[in-house]
Amino acid sequence: MGEFELIRHYFAAASCARGGEGVALGIGDDCALLELPVGEQLAVSTDTLVEAVHFPASADPCLLGQRALGVSLSDLAAMGATPIGFTLALTLPRAEPAWLEAFARGLDRMAQQCGARLIGGDTTRGPLSLTLSVFGRVPAGQALTRAGARVGDLLCVGGCLGEGAGALELVLGRRQAVAEVAEPLLARYWSPQPQLALGQALLGKATAALDISDGLLADCGHIAAASGVALSVEQARLPISAALLELLGEQGARRCALGGGDDYLLAFTLPPPQLAGLQAAGWPVQVVGRVEAGQGVRLLDEQGRSIAAPAQGYQHFGAAGV
Ligand code: ADP
Ligand code: MG
Repeated sequence: MGEFELIRHYFAAASCARGGEGVALGIGDDCALLELPVGEQLAVSTDTLVEAVHFPASADPCLLGQRALGVSLSDLAAMGATPIGFTLALTLPRAEPAWLEAFARGLDRMAQQCGARLIGGDTTRGPLSLTLSVFGRVPAGQALTRAGARVGDLLCVGGCLGEGAGALELVLGRRQAVAEVAEPLLARYWSPQPQLALGQALLGKATAALDISDGLLADCGHIAAASGVALSVEQARLPISAALLELLGEQGARRCALGGGDDYLLAFTLPPPQLAGLQAAGWPVQVVGRVEAGQGVRLLDEQGRSIAAPAQGYQHFGAAGV
């Protein structure tokens, strides 16, 4: 199968490539053309996933397609943006119909769920890797950045932490668990649900936000640095699911909640008066700490004393990296 036939068959023919709101021209020309409503800005983000670095070599292609797009769209969620479309640059060792069909199916499923259209890409031969760029729209000047946290704000997260990192233990076969424990965790890993609706609900309310991809403490460090404030995290308030607790015990679960990657939940800072309204409207907003004067991130025990944090989030080129 040639390159053009492959693109046509698996990608241009997918339901998510059919165009829609904001897509004036999709796959097939030299560029796609997007339309933005007046008064909105384009939010753009790119992520690359490399086989054996970001996902296991034997990964189920359907789950991989789903996960790759979910992870990328999470960056739009973090800015409060609404997805318009995405491009897919796919490097493949060989054109294997069963793999491509399943991958496109998983991608299509996540795209339909999130209202993102496939608008273009690139297809090349080489070691398996995926680069997705996502494009969204956000009211001008209102995007949630990392830079607006203010002293006195609450530090909040959008759900139970550490499940992605906990699930990785199962994905890599380092641990086994009964179905009631394994299934919810694996679902969080393979089908991360970008918190797009929550991000949009936080527009005009949260002062800073990001999506947790490298662990709560490491990512909170980005908000602290960009906003010129300190963040304190209260260990006793970390939301941890029963499944994660069952899999790893209290210590292990806490470690994943603080330092594990792959959560793809939002972390954000909120002026205290905003909390009750968001919670009453049913948004999953959990307070885990607050914004203080100073710099960096502190972890506090029940008595409010600073305690040492467990291992940091993953860094490709960090001190312990390559
Ligand atoms: P060009 O040579 O102009 O860069 P290509 O021949 O690479 O274009 O691609 C032809 C069309 O197919 C373009 O519209 C491109 O965006 C799209 N395309 C290529 N690969 C993919 C892919 N993996 N998924 C979706 N669209 C793709
Ligand atoms: Mg061209």
